[in-house]
Amino acid sequence: MGMIRGTTGLLGVIGYPVEHSLSPVMHNAAISYLGADYVYVPFPVKPDDLAAAVSGFRAIGVKGFSVTIPHKQTIIPLLNEITGEAQLIGAVSTVWRTDRGWKGTNTDFQGFMAPLKEMDRDWRNIIPIVLGHGGAARAVVAGCHALGCPEIHVFGRSGNKLASFLQSWCETPLQGIVKVHAREELQGMMPQAGLVVNATPVGMHPIIDELPVAEEMLRHMKPETIVYDLVYNPRPTLFLQKAQENGAITVDGLEMLVQQGAKALEIWLSRAVPVDIMREALIRTGRPE
Ligand code: NAP
Repeated sequence: MGMIRGTTGLLGVIGYPVEHSLSPVMHNAAISYLGADYVYVPFPVKPDDLAAAVSGFRAIGVKGFSVTIPHKQTIIPLLNEITGEAQLIGAVSTVWRTDRGWKGTNTDFQGFMAPLKEMDRDWRNIIPIVLGHGGAARAVVAGCHALGCPEIHVFGRSGNKLASFLQSWCETPLQGIVKVHAREELQGMMPQAGLVVNATPVGMHPIIDELPVAEEMLRHMKPETIVYDLVYNPRPTLFLQKAQENGAITVDGLEMLVQQGAKALEIWLSRAVPVDIMREALIRTGRPE
């Protein structure tokens, strides 16, 4: 890391807890590589202290910050402006300072799409299956829609939660495009899917021997279905190992983490950022969680 001076711009991540975040590692590696006069630090902010923290950031001239659990939704009323994507998803992951005050967007959405955009697919013919309906699933659903997928099928284990997830897309451009299903319907849908996304924590360290779907389901996939696990610890997850054995093309969550971070740093620094350096910094730690 370069020398911290009187001119050094302050960036950081707010969350609670935040000790496990690897965002400081990833961002400071890029800042150092670029020789930019910034530093990125973790800020543990309890839910009750969020408003005080945001106005304090304004007072001390923080340039921008990442937002993680549990603040991604509750930060919204504290901002002056949010992008259309953040509005649609209902969550903000990156905040920066503008002439009008704090502006927020959702870079998870862009991070999710980044590795898919590299693939030569006609997304208008691809039907995605999304496992889970939490915060990350919202970014995944919006990402699939932005890619051009004609319908998006979301699976969960709670009828009530699925119903309110569906309801949340009413009166948005995704109304009628998002469809929800109980897990019993997965077998019937699997042969139609071109993309299967795990947006649940199942398979994540330390319980690494669990699968988000029965292994049998993977045998119903078409060849070359893309299987994308948002989980990035371990690498690969058991889900991706089994998917690959069944002929899938696999993508792990590390790339989403790197790409969402790169989009955020690009916003704060208003310049291109070294994505490879950010990825290597995460891999070097050997513990991307
Ligand atoms: P969340 O808001 O807590 O949502 C979790 C979802 O998973 C819910 O739908 C939940 O359903 C479901 N779920 C949890 N345990 C389950 C189980 N044992 N079986 C079936 N479904 C289960 O969490 P999130 O923020 O969306 O994160 C989900 C995962 O994505 C986490 O592993 C997180 O680390 C990862 N993630 C990765 C990135 C990245 O950059 N790669 C970014 C964001 C998140 P119920 O409500 O029924 O429990």
